[in-house]
Amino acid sequence: MLNIRDLKVSYGPIEVIHGISLDVNEGECVALIGANGAGKSSTLKAICGLVPVSGGKVTFEGRDITNLSGHAVVKAGITMCPEGRQVFPQMSTLKNLRMGAYTRNDDEQDADLERMMGMFPILRERAHQAAGTLSGGEQEMLAIARALMARPKLCIFDEPSLGLAPKIVADVAATIARIKETGMTILLVEQNSLMALRLADRAYLFEAGEIVLSGTGEELQSHPEVVKAYLGH
Ligand code: ATP
Repeated sequence: MLNIRDLKVSYGPIEVIHGISLDVNEGECVALIGANGAGKSSTLKAICGLVPVSGGKVTFEGRDITNLSGHAVVKAGITMCPEGRQVFPQMSTLKNLRMGAYTRNDDEQDADLERMMGMFPILRERAHQAAGTLSGGEQEMLAIARALMARPKLCIFDEPSLGLAPKIVADVAATIARIKETGMTILLVEQNSLMALRLADRAYLFEAGEIVLSGTGEELQSHPEVVKAYLGH
């Protein structure tokens, strides 16, 4: 569904992604893991049209989407649930959810809102509360639901567990697992490698702007290098 070939990303004169290739097939959950600064976020941003691609190609459902605008990428069916949630703090929960559907022009948004409130009952309780006053975990649920409001074909999660208490991290992982069960295609970036590898059908390990290892979630969970460097046991 998503095919990346020889992708390069540079910030000014400095190349930080050195020609990576990866695939996400329909219905799969694929994780990108690796240390801080390894290039996971830059890869996501390049897919989503948020930083320019300096080399290589990104195709989605067979269509070349390299260097499309962020808006056009959402239109094509890719939505990002961003690092740090980035909810609109002054707006109500409900308004935030409606913002997620801004590229849609169908009349099923109310039905989807109802579906989201059913999936995340806490959002119904907080519907009229300013999003900035929600807890970190609630804001993450809101960010996830807002992403789903765009009715994406591919949903990208950037560090969904960041800054959350362990119990809430488990809730977020369970939520992503539920979304996966609906058949959604998922690309997940996580510092929490264990959580990512448990959720993922397949995963890629990034180091210094390159992919150094790939395999199923299970394979990487027991790969000596991954265990030593990223799973800490
Ligand atoms: P993190 O988990 O910290 O986000 P990451 O694996 O996602 O790490 P990136 O954020 O993609 O890594 O960073 C890859 C490299 O690009 C790093 O060396 C980083 O310092 C550099 N970088 C990221 N954003 C910028 C920017 N806007 N300008 C210049 N360099 C940047």
